[in-house]
Amino acid sequence: MPHLFCYTISMTGRTHDLAAFTALSYVVATQPLHQVTLATGIVSIMVTLVGGLTPDIDQPTADLWRKFPAGSLVGRILYPLLGGHRYISHSILGIVLFGLLSKLLLAKIGQVLLVDINVVWAAFMIGFISHLIMDTITHEGVPWLFPIPFRFGFPPLKILRMKTGGFIEKSVIFPGLLFLNGYIYYHNYTKFLDFFKHYIK
Ligand SMILES: [Zn+2]
Repeated sequence: MPHLFCYTISMTGRTHDLAAFTALSYVVATQPLHQVTLATGIVSIMVTLVGGLTPDIDQPTADLWRKFPAGSLVGRILYPLLGGHRYISHSILGIVLFGLLSKLLLAKIGQVLLVDINVVWAAFMIGFISHLIMDTITHEGVPWLFPIPFRFGFPPLKILRMKTGGFIEKSVIFPGLLFLNGYIYYHNYTKFLDFFKHYIK
């Protein structure tokens, strides 16, 4: 049952969405503020979520593919090209590769869409990297140094890591991320207020 198999080795899209959003919140809270347009802000939030699902494009049943018509067909074509689940797209090499590809793509899109492409690109990468960090705490680990066939995980002892899509993900990780968001916004309340008041054009 390849479908079921693919599903169970991946974290849910919901968890990756929330992790990507949390990472974006963290970066905004900790980095110097930049002036952005409202359009750039909205597009950046959406693109962060896309980035957070993108590493799983090597999985034909990925949540990202379900969002597009005939997406799972495209996924099935790309699946063997990317080497199967959690390979190149889940590595430092993958970060560089997808970073370059998305930059090229955004440069094209930037000619028609009036948004700050550098900010949108950074948002994509934040989402992308958050995905790999989240997968690292799962049972299967992540081949960060692909093509070296070793999967890194945290904690290093595999048995202590959580199962994807399981009880821990739903009852500890997901609420934990919600809590973390609350903490980030509460702790940096004045900065976010300042951002919404003075930095969005
Ligand atoms: Zn993944």
